[in-house]
Amino acid sequence: SPRIGVLALQGSFALHTAVLQRLGIEAVEVRRTPALDGLDGLIIPGGESSTMLKFLLEEDLFEPLRTFHQRGGALYGTCAGTILLARAVQNPAQQSLALLDIEIQRNGYGRQLESHLGATPCPELGEPDLPLVMIRAPIISATGADVHVLAKWRGQPAFVREGRVLATTFHPELTTDTRIHAYFLEVAACIR
Ligand code: GLN
Repeated sequence: SPRIGVLALQGSFALHTAVLQRLGIEAVEVRRTPALDGLDGLIIPGGESSTMLKFLLEEDLFEPLRTFHQRGGALYGTCAGTILLARAVQNPAQQSLALLDIEIQRNGYGRQLESHLGATPCPELGEPDLPLVMIRAPIISATGADVHVLAKWRGQPAFVREGRVLATTFHPELTTDTRIHAYFLEVAACIR
């Protein structure tokens, strides 16, 4: 099975580790660059993207994550993790890894919809609809030509894939639905 890490600088990394455990994977918590060695895939969790970015820069993990991707490592970003993966971030603008050709608006749903629940079809994963937990979620406002939109919410892309990079604006780790994590394991293992 693929070797998977979870970026453990800030945010909801422990919940991702728990989902992977349910899928039979003992994930590595990544806090320093050497922990990336030998990994097939890395999850960047939700949290506060500006704080996570600050820690990434402080721990000198920013460039090593780009190198990890260049060497073929798979990445999956959730919410704040998606913001960090994006090519361009707005509201407000901030530096990002630019490993996924999307533009993203932080806190795109505004105050009245800061957090909400939903469900949406995802043909790639089959039935039933994907449960959506959105928490101060960003909105993906533009996608490049190589980005596949695998699920939408309120007309905007909510689950996207570009090669070995997956991203969701919602939090599957807060539901009992493990299909997105299982899909990521297959991408990391080069089965999908
Ligand atoms: N609003 C947060 C940010 O901009 C993301 C929220 C989340 O990850 N649940 O970083």
